[in-house]
Amino acid sequence: MRACAIPSSFCSLATIIDGLFSGLGLIPTGPRPSRGDIFGTIAVNYKLFLNILGLAIFAVFLWLTAQRGVTDPVCGMKVDKAKAIRKEIAGQTLYFCSEHCAHKAAANHGVILTSAG
Ligand SMILES: [Zn+2]
Repeated sequence: MRACAIPSSFCSLATIIDGLFSGLGLIPTGPRPSRGDIFGTIAVNYKLFLNILGLAIFAVFLWLTAQRGVTDPVCGMKVDKAKAIRKEIAGQTLYFCSEHCAHKAAANHGVILTSAG
């Protein structure tokens, strides 16, 4: 147990976690691992290139999702902008996953939506 110099709520949480890990004997002792222990297994081989390729593919899909996706303000679901239900509410264009969410948002703004649109 160490004294804390951070806000009390974080400190008490840290103390609880410290106590829990100490109780379970999960706090490692002995010398800290060296840089070589951690990074020694990284080598320039086919696995490194596959990992970089995988990361690049992941980044592309993440970027595509960010480009095409919008968040439904009612349920928080990510929806495809092209397939989403689009409504003008209080001068703002909003995208919804379903008519249900669109009507819920409109009701919150005191707007009654017509089925067209
Ligand atoms: Zn929704």
